[in-house]
Amino acid sequence: MTRDEIRQFLEFYQDLGVKTIFERGSALQAESLPELVDDLNSLLPPLPAAKATPKPPPPTAPPPAPMKITPPTLIPLAPEGDTMQAIRADIGDCRRCRLCEGRNQIVFGSGNEGARLVFVGEGPGADEDASGLPFVGRAGQLLTQMIEGTAAKEGIKILRPDVYIANVVKCRPPENRTPMPDEMEICGQFLFRQLLAIKPKAICALGSTAAKALLGTKEGVTKLRGNWQRWYDIPVMVTYHPSYLLRPYNQNAKREAWEDLKKVLHFVYD
Ligand code: SF4
Repeated sequence: MTRDEIRQFLEFYQDLGVKTIFERGSALQAESLPELVDDLNSLLPPLPAAKATPKPPPPTAPPPAPMKITPPTLIPLAPEGDTMQAIRADIGDCRRCRLCEGRNQIVFGSGNEGARLVFVGEGPGADEDASGLPFVGRAGQLLTQMIEGTAAKEGIKILRPDVYIANVVKCRPPENRTPMPDEMEICGQFLFRQLLAIKPKAICALGSTAAKALLGTKEGVTKLRGNWQRWYDIPVMVTYHPSYLLRPYNQNAKREAWEDLKKVLHFVYD
């Protein structure tokens, strides 16, 4: 990778509102930009020797000055004190990916911004695109029933407004298709900032897109569900997306989803 490519790489993330570079791993790590540039420089091949230059300067000319890297000032991704208001302001009238083309509204997320539990879905559908709120269509109504019905049965006093609900992408994909990897990566930065700002005790990932975005895995929900995973240091329970549960032949999945939800609710609220 050339120095120009590195600069473009860093500027790309700056355009996304990224302020700190995070490294996947067991612990959350923020790398300062100078250290990052040093690391990247150490990976670069050495500068070509003078004899490799097609047109070397005349002997009397001064040697070419070493290329100076002026790193862009990155705004931290999740700085101390990051707030939902700041994240929403950074999103603005976002046109960072192609999903902006067909949307009516950005669906930022809703619920208690100090929630101990966050649900993450895939992306807005038609009802969400029209209302600007996540999970308000049939799948959303089922999610509300799942949260409130399970909590009531288990003697846990919470209602849907007590949790926070967001999606991997904030604009409706055309024809409700699955978000593409680049769309998930670009918009996922905002979801990650939301999660870091809320700092929930647990996250419930609804469906394989949310699981993929949070866990970077290609495993399906059937394999992941029922066991705790981790997004950095926050426990994640993967379960079925409510829209999958609305299909009539998924009785087993419904029972499993309720079991998953019971496990999450007791972990968070007991
Ligand atoms: S999906 Fe996310 S990144 Fe893409 S345009 Fe909408 S808000 Fe921006």
